[in-house]
Amino acid sequence: MNRIIKLSLVDMKAKDNLEVEDADITDSEIDQEILDTIAKDILCYIISNLQKERILDPSNPVIHLRISGDGRNVGRKIKHVMITFMILNHESYHHNPDYHYTVALYPSTEKYNTIKFILEPFVEELHSLKEDELEITGVLWKFKLYFSSDWKFLAICLGLNSANSKYFCPWYLCSKNEIGDLNKDWHIEKNIDEISINYNTISGHIFPPIFNIIPVDNIIFDELHVFLRITDRLWELVLSEIKEHGLFNNITKKVILDEMKWLKISFQFWENKDSHNWEYTSLVGDDKKKVLEHFNLELLFRPSRAVLIRKLWDEFNLLYCALKNKKTNPLEFKKQAKEWLILFLTPLSGNPSDFKNFIKGLYLPNQITPYMHVLIFHGWEFLEKHKQWDVKAFSCFAVEKKNHQQVSTFFRKTFKNGGNLLRKNQLYKK
Ligand SMILES: [Zn+2]
Repeated sequence: MNRIIKLSLVDMKAKDNLEVEDADITDSEIDQEILDTIAKDILCYIISNLQKERILDPSNPVIHLRISGDGRNVGRKIKHVMITFMILNHESYHHNPDYHYTVALYPSTEKYNTIKFILEPFVEELHSLKEDELEITGVLWKFKLYFSSDWKFLAICLGLNSANSKYFCPWYLCSKNEIGDLNKDWHIEKNIDEISINYNTISGHIFPPIFNIIPVDNIIFDELHVFLRITDRLWELVLSEIKEHGLFNNITKKVILDEMKWLKISFQFWENKDSHNWEYTSLVGDDKKKVLEHFNLELLFRPSRAVLIRKLWDEFNLLYCALKNKKTNPLEFKKQAKEWLILFLTPLSGNPSDFKNFIKGLYLPNQITPYMHVLIFHGWEFLEKHKQWDVKAFSCFAVEKKNHQQVSTFFRKTFKNGGNLLRKNQLYKK
């Protein structure tokens, strides 16, 4: 393969000012296992094939190139970070990991300095592709660049603060203090050139963006993480309500375990010996979907309360399905998303001392997460701007699957246990 696509190993420790935060990685073999390829070689190879297959049309020589990144925990001490690209024109393979091509793979954590160092040659190539275009067999191909990943990776690549800071939003100066303001009409307005030059004067930005050639409206959130993290939050809110009422006891735990068993979901509770908090199994995506759609909330709450929470869960599921549907009207989605936020923030009604007429509300603005924010306030705009591909085309499902596959291969090669460690780390677990 090395004859067609040039592969090279990079010594990460060669960079003097690079924080070697991999001190916990002791295996010398792992230190060297940093794979770096030349994207142009891969592109030349693929583009000429796609042209032969008539997927690319030389009379409209525009390549839509999607870049993604993913960091995966592979046990307590080792993490694998992978950067890929995908040709969006190859529409039938958007969700196939084999068509997301790896440009860099390294063991470390997701940190700005490390990612910047590793990606320097790739970013230079992207600059040249965008500015000079790429000539293959007499055709000059133009490039439109996109980026998508989970929140953490995206924020790091954009040089943004952490998700819990005041100005957390990659797309606009949305403030955490106004996250529950139903009258806000935030638009995607940040400009990548401006952030690149003046990052230190723009609230929330602490470093210049790594991919300074990708416009902000081509930086798209990952619909898979929107689903996973919002579902997590809805489930946490249910459990914390039970705890608030002092009802998180053995009976409740048994009710939850029995219902999970009925739904054919492998689920357990255990007590953390240090914190004495009760922890529970992190579910994979399909099981999360089962809980969201079918968990009988009446087992945990009185009927009227269960109906209200069930409505919130069902409406979220509908909103998520609408996000993935290419036919969804963006303005209708915007309305539907706002209605879901209104439902999430349902206030109490009546007087708490008047038990008969009092109705407890749902949740508070400070319980809105960044993923909820992006779905509610920016989701419609992505639907509108990316009609050509749809939001689902930027899903990181295939990228996560690819990282999982690569990590599995790596472990089979490196460890005698054949990657038993890996089996404990299910797909989706971050
Ligand atoms: Zn925002």
